[in-house]
Amino acid sequence: MRRILIAGNWKMNVIDNILPVARAAEENRVDVAVFPPFVYLERIINELKGSKVVVGAQNMHHQESGPYTGETSPKFLLEMNVKHVIIGHSERRHVFKESDEEISLKMKKALSLNMNPILCVGETESERLSNKHKSSVENQLKIGLGGIENNLKNIIIAYEPVWAIGTGNTATPNDAEEMHSFIREQISYIFGRNVASEMIVLYGGSVNEENVKDLLRKDNIDGALVGGASLKGDKFAKIIEIGGKTNI
Ligand code: PEP
Repeated sequence: MRRILIAGNWKMNVIDNILPVARAAEENRVDVAVFPPFVYLERIINELKGSKVVVGAQNMHHQESGPYTGETSPKFLLEMNVKHVIIGHSERRHVFKESDEEISLKMKKALSLNMNPILCVGETESERLSNKHKSSVENQLKIGLGGIENNLKNIIIAYEPVWAIGTGNTATPNDAEEMHSFIREQISYIFGRNVASEMIVLYGGSVNEENVKDLLRKDNIDGALVGGASLKGDKFAKIIEIGGKTNI
């Protein structure tokens, strides 16, 4: 039985008020996670002490130490008890030119340390317009998940069409469901049916309190990775509340 997960990716921003989020996580039967910038992790962990909200990181390096100026070791995250980590967000792929191979190394490292990586996949607008959206996502999954054998239960997938991120253009619930079902099918080719039926697959791309309900109603959409709308505590709490209602 998959449980709804509502996750907030703050990118290079900080939420205005975390209290409504902690309250909503307490009052609703739903998993909640937030992903602050690295330098705020400790502060947010302290502010959320005793709450049900999980605090994760937006990225990590695939090595544990070494000459990698500006990078963050997964070991540093674990020292703070941060186990959830977003891997291969579209901004990492497209703005910072992270390759599928680099993303694969990060996935392997995170799982070897028993962390919970959220692997982001999604097609660009031109790939969708030229009907290459499925092959693009298939390729990202094959490389991102290839060669992984351990801790499969820790893996979370986020389908985030690049054209929908930060644009206000959400995928329609039907289009999103079509891709989620395709993704689950690909996971079953890679890891088998049982693993695929248990794996959480989030949708991300301009999710807000108005569109989240229709997305979460779909069979293969198990939650949302929310960017912009996770920065206002009240709005994000509303999304969590809707997630809790969908879960029942
Ligand atoms: C994201 O950052 O993963 C995201 C989906 O952003 P937004 O909700 O703002 O589109």
